[in-house]
Amino acid sequence: MSDFRETAKQSSLTCDLHASMQLQNPKLQRGRISRLLALTVFLAVIFLAAIPGCHQTRVAPGSTFNPADVNESRIINADREPGNWMTYGRTYDEQRFSPLNQINDQDVSQLGLAWYYDLDTHRGQEATPIVVDGVMYFTSAWSKVFALNAATGQLLWSYDPKVPGNWAINACCDVVNRGVAAWNGKIFVATLDGRLIALDAKTGRRVWETLTIDPNSRYTITGAPRLAKGKVIIGNGGGEFGVRGYVSAYDSETGKLAWRFYTVPGDPVKPFESPILQKAAKTWSGDWWKLGGGGTVWNAIAYDPELDQLYIGTGNGTPWSEKFRSPKGGDNLLTCSIVALKLKSGEYVWHYQEDPGDAWDFDADEDMILADLNIDGRIRKVLMQAPKNGVFYVLDRTNGELISAKPYTFVNWTSGVDLKTGRPVETALARYQGPNPAPIVPGPVGAHSWQPMSYNPVTGLTYIPVNDAGFKYKLPASFEAKKLAPNYGIDVVAAGLPQDPKTKKAILGTVKGKLVAWDPVRQRAAWTVERPGPWNGGTLATAGNLVFEGTAGGNFEAYRADSGAKLWSFAAQTAVMAGPVAYEVDGQQYVAVLAGWGGVFPLAAGEVSFASGRVRNLSRMLVFKLGGKVSLPPMRTSELLPLTVLPNPASPATIRRGERLFQTYCAGCHGDVAVSGGVLPDLRRSSALTDDTWFEIVLRGDLQSEGMVSFSKELSREDAAAIRSYVIFRGNQDARVQGQVQRH
Ligand code: CA
Repeated sequence: MSDFRETAKQSSLTCDLHASMQLQNPKLQRGRISRLLALTVFLAVIFLAAIPGCHQTRVAPGSTFNPADVNESRIINADREPGNWMTYGRTYDEQRFSPLNQINDQDVSQLGLAWYYDLDTHRGQEATPIVVDGVMYFTSAWSKVFALNAATGQLLWSYDPKVPGNWAINACCDVVNRGVAAWNGKIFVATLDGRLIALDAKTGRRVWETLTIDPNSRYTITGAPRLAKGKVIIGNGGGEFGVRGYVSAYDSETGKLAWRFYTVPGDPVKPFESPILQKAAKTWSGDWWKLGGGGTVWNAIAYDPELDQLYIGTGNGTPWSEKFRSPKGGDNLLTCSIVALKLKSGEYVWHYQEDPGDAWDFDADEDMILADLNIDGRIRKVLMQAPKNGVFYVLDRTNGELISAKPYTFVNWTSGVDLKTGRPVETALARYQGPNPAPIVPGPVGAHSWQPMSYNPVTGLTYIPVNDAGFKYKLPASFEAKKLAPNYGIDVVAAGLPQDPKTKKAILGTVKGKLVAWDPVRQRAAWTVERPGPWNGGTLATAGNLVFEGTAGGNFEAYRADSGAKLWSFAAQTAVMAGPVAYEVDGQQYVAVLAGWGGVFPLAAGEVSFASGRVRNLSRMLVFKLGGKVSLPPMRTSELLPLTVLPNPASPATIRRGERLFQTYCAGCHGDVAVSGGVLPDLRRSSALTDDTWFEIVLRGDLQSEGMVSFSKELSREDAAAIRSYVIFRGNQDARVQGQVQRH
């Protein structure tokens, strides 16, 4: 709470601080020189910028300093000002490669903390910061925006869009946000509850706001907007919540909708919004539109200035199981696909579907990297993606042709991709038809998820944070869409971690993570760093022959980019999941990363998530420089509350009913089989189990502002009591295993 009060106090000083920063910044003073001199400087800048390796900060002739004065030319020419990180992946090709090399494989051992900034939320932190002309802009959980002096960490302004706590019920994967975009003096943020907001980069005041979703549908936005030619591009999530996926373009100055592209067909009785959807409708069966369809664009967007094309990644169909979504089969276009669109109009150009008729939540929403690669003696304009399904794809981005596809880690759902048809060859296990759950690898967490990969054009390697975690898929007897639960269309009880010690140990033993340096031309690993568990951080590649990555176990680390030798590690006190960035202010290079454990894995995976390390959430921005001497404050010690051991008079049938309800309604946030991954409350340890507080929270919604809504529209008092009986059963069960004394 003390952090929160401090933030509020600093906020009121925003403009003064910013003004004083401007005066101290020599770059800004340069903006005030005479027009003639400015023109000379401008021409010199152009000349110097043309020399490879000559790092210049842009100076706008005849103008005073405008924060976030980003435009198309600046992003396209980002290598001329490598001190900035002006868009999500630094450049339009989203390579996350910094040309800065002051911090390098020779001196990285001298890297230390320059400053840190504590945040006022305790949920997952996934944002990549943007740094423009000495100012850092980023988001925290709950879609809050912060502008800091990038050299000192001084708060310039903050903006809270006041996302209603109860919207969290619509979020599959924590109340996270992956960052802002900067353009023409504005900062753009998309909020969990579906708004797109433009802020004045100087003051943090709202310029415009528009609702990008139907508020009666269960959409969420966690992704970062992208800016190209004055258009703000934004998608949304909700593939487990009965929505229909789309991506929209808005005018960056006015917030007016320019175009919208739907990724899956709607009701075929109505006119199709685009010709491709008419074709796509032939790949569906049944009444798919009544369930929403899915295909959401929740993360991956890339702009290609050379071809003036946008690429989007689309997610799973709704629900996961195609048997309920499209009962007579079909590929269900354009789910789980990479789609190219014209930036100007949003018209379809081409698509490549990674998972025809997906049944596993194998989203194609993971970040895409554009590059020119020499393949078989020919320079190809490629798009690379390492999506959830575990296969690394290299596409020709001019036409969508599949160049190559190889698994980048262990998978058992496919034996490989047929390059002639572009389709995966599925194994007998893949479609989980049998009476027993099918242990499929990877599972819905993905062999790789939103944690951004990077590409180093010098080593020719991509650096992928890989998850190795399978999942037990089984079809339920029937499917009925719920409004207050995710709609997976799989048997959520069969998916739970079994409690008999031998099976449990065997399953937990298969859960791992790794950092893989993947050669996209040869389609093989160059080196691998093993991690104890999944959900490690996004990566940053630098010209200093370095790869930076945070870990789920609580470190921030640097490796040699060419060999994978570990060179440096910093104890971050919490997991570091977000994508790091490098930038420069006044000749000093910094590396920054947002820290804070959360996201879907620790929320939903229960005990499986313990493989990665049992860290707490401490949300803060961490910024490093050579010779940095700042220390983090000592961690407050905290102990887990004991498991609540209680009498449990409920019948086995009631406990089984409670188990099904828990796995359906509660497990997505409070953890598989009632074991919390440590970010949200572990209900087995809850004092609410003992009295009516339980019903006040579950049915009356007493904790709605924190994201725990009332479930009274779908759960009766008997249901809530059955869930409680199951949680007590699980607490007692685990207390016995752990030798905690029973009181009855
Ligand atoms: Ca999904």
